[in-house]
Amino acid sequence: MNILTFGPNGSGKGTQGAIVKEKYNLPHIESGAIFRDNIGKGTEIGIKAKEYIDRGELVPDEITIPMILDRLKQDDCKNGWLLDGFPRNKEQAIKLDEALKAASLDLDVVIEVLLDREIAKNRIMGRRLCVNDNNHPNNIFIDAIKPDGDKCRVCGGDLTSRSDDQDEEAISKRHSIYYDTETGTMAAAYYFKDIAEKNEKIKYIILDGAPGVKEVTAELMSKL
Ligand code: AMP
Repeated sequence: MNILTFGPNGSGKGTQGAIVKEKYNLPHIESGAIFRDNIGKGTEIGIKAKEYIDRGELVPDEITIPMILDRLKQDDCKNGWLLDGFPRNKEQAIKLDEALKAASLDLDVVIEVLLDREIAKNRIMGRRLCVNDNNHPNNIFIDAIKPDGDKCRVCGGDLTSRSDDQDEEAISKRHSIYYDTETGTMAAAYYFKDIAEKNEKIKYIILDGAPGVKEVTAELMSKL
C-alpha cells in the first residue's frame, strides 16, 4: 500500500499518518523528520537544509527530490510506504509521479486534510515534541492531547518545541507555500487529485481537520 498525505502544518496530518502507518505496518517517510535527523547528525544535507528550514522556506528541490526518491528505494519500502511532507510543490509532484511510473509503482491512497490557516497557525504554536517519539501527539492548545504538565502525555518523556514552530513569520511562509494552488503544496495535491479522478484504483480521501484527533481518525478509518 502506497499512501500520500497532504495537509497544512498544524492540520494533524502527521498524527493521522502515524495511525495509518500502524494500521498497515508501513514505514512513515516524513521529509521534515529526515531533515531534522540530518541536522541533528550534522550531515551535509542537514547543514544545507537548516537555513531554509529556519526561515520557513522549502529546501531546494535538487536536495529534497533525490533524498526522498532514494529513501523510497530502501528495503523497508518494498511493501509500501506512507509519504508525509513530500511532494510540497508541483515540481516535486511531477518528479514523484515520474519516479513511480519508472519503478512501476502504483499509488493506492491520497489523503488531504483540510484546515483553515488561522486555526493551523495556533495549533503549530502549541505543538510540543516528545524526545522519545516524534509521533507522540502533544499540544498545549488542544485539550485531547494536552501534555501531562511539561511531560509527554503518552510516555512521560521530556518535551521540546521546534524553533520553526515558534516563529510567526516562518509559520506564515510555510502556510503561504502550502495554500498556493498554482505551484505550491495544494497544486501538488491537485496534481494527484486529477490523476485519482481518472484512475479508480486510487482513493482520494478528503478529511476535515477541524474536529479533534479521535473524530478525524474515525472519519479517516471509515473512508480508507
Ligand atoms: P515539516 O516537518 O513537514 O513541517 O518540515 C519542516 C521543514 O522541512 C519545512 O518547513 C521545509 O523547510 C523542509 N521540508 C520538509 N519537506 C520538504 C519538501 N518536500 N521540500 C522542501 N522542503 C521540505
